[in-house]
Amino acid sequence: MSDNFKALMINKTDDKQAISIVNIDESELMEGNVVVDVTHSTLNYKDGLAITGSSPIVRTFPMIPGIDFSGIVRSSEDKKFSEGDRVVLNGYGLSENHFGGYSERARVNSNHLLKLPENISNKQAMAIGTAGYTAMLCVLAIEDYGIKPEDGSILVSGASGGVGSVAISLLSDLGYEVEASTGKIDEADYLKSLGAKSIIDRTELSEPSKPLGKERWAGAIDSVGSQTLVNILAQTSYGGAVAACGLAQGMDLPSTVMPFILRNVALLGVDSVMAPMNKRERAWERLSSDINIKKLEEMIVDTTIDQVEVFAGEILKGKIKGRVVVNISEN
Ligand code: NDP
Repeated sequence: MSDNFKALMINKTDDKQAISIVNIDESELMEGNVVVDVTHSTLNYKDGLAITGSSPIVRTFPMIPGIDFSGIVRSSEDKKFSEGDRVVLNGYGLSENHFGGYSERARVNSNHLLKLPENISNKQAMAIGTAGYTAMLCVLAIEDYGIKPEDGSILVSGASGGVGSVAISLLSDLGYEVEASTGKIDEADYLKSLGAKSIIDRTELSEPSKPLGKERWAGAIDSVGSQTLVNILAQTSYGGAVAACGLAQGMDLPSTVMPFILRNVALLGVDSVMAPMNKRERAWERLSSDINIKKLEEMIVDTTIDQVEVFAGEILKGKIKGRVVVNISEN
């Protein structure tokens, strides 16, 4: 009996990437000690970069993209996992140097897998996805720094995107007053339904301005970078902190040291890809207790593996609202 399964594959010839749906078998997967039946993946900004080839995310070709997945363990050489366990994997080189989540089956390193909390379904895990797990890492960074709801508002940039949407939901449920900066002013109702108190047009923050501005927020979660992050830092209150995880506007940071040396503002870097396992476990435990399923459901855009390429172009144009869930085994 044929044991082929479906996967999305990126090939590169003469400097040109081409993407196609292929049928492969387990012997073609990369090394690992756990085989997972992938049920869901998602589309993060980084997936958009990888699929379109607009940034050198993929390091070896051919590559199955998809930086994350949830699924059910099919077989395991590691006693930590048994057949039937529901698992999630975020980052750790998926779609860079190891086959990723847009495949009905994946073989991975057991040290990169995490068992899903009971109350989070496989689909919900990918509605959260790497964007949502990163949002949680940012919230933890702000909390660990000691910023409390009574210290003032928290600004969330890239508000209608994946990291932004989940960050707004988490922060508002924790009692923080959230200001949402967005390019999609017509999505104000959506952002308010997630918990944003006020909406800022992102053009207010995206142009060059003074090294220090009026102190407006106690902290921020920024997934945009570039001039936006510069202006966020310049308007953070004395002693505040900004968790920075993204580069949707750009990877540059044309700033001055003024917010740091005159206002004692802290810039907290957040990486999800190589985050150590204890940090991941902490983030997913907090997600299991804090994620607001009703708000999460509002964020979901459903799709299937054959539509991923279209969505990849859209996410890079900043056109996607919320979280794209890719149903892998239902396709
Ligand atoms: P999304 O595309 O879902 O969200 C990004 C949002 O940023 C957009 O929806 C848009 O929101 C805003 N935006 C887009 N283009 C621009 C622009 N030119 N200028 C200003 N704002 C813009 O992406 P994700 O939420 O998945 O990821 C966000 C960022 O975080 C990406 O750069 C990604 O690479 C990074 N990231 C980093 C991780 C890490 O480990 N450090 C992990 C996960 C993500 P709006 O229209 O509301 O303004």
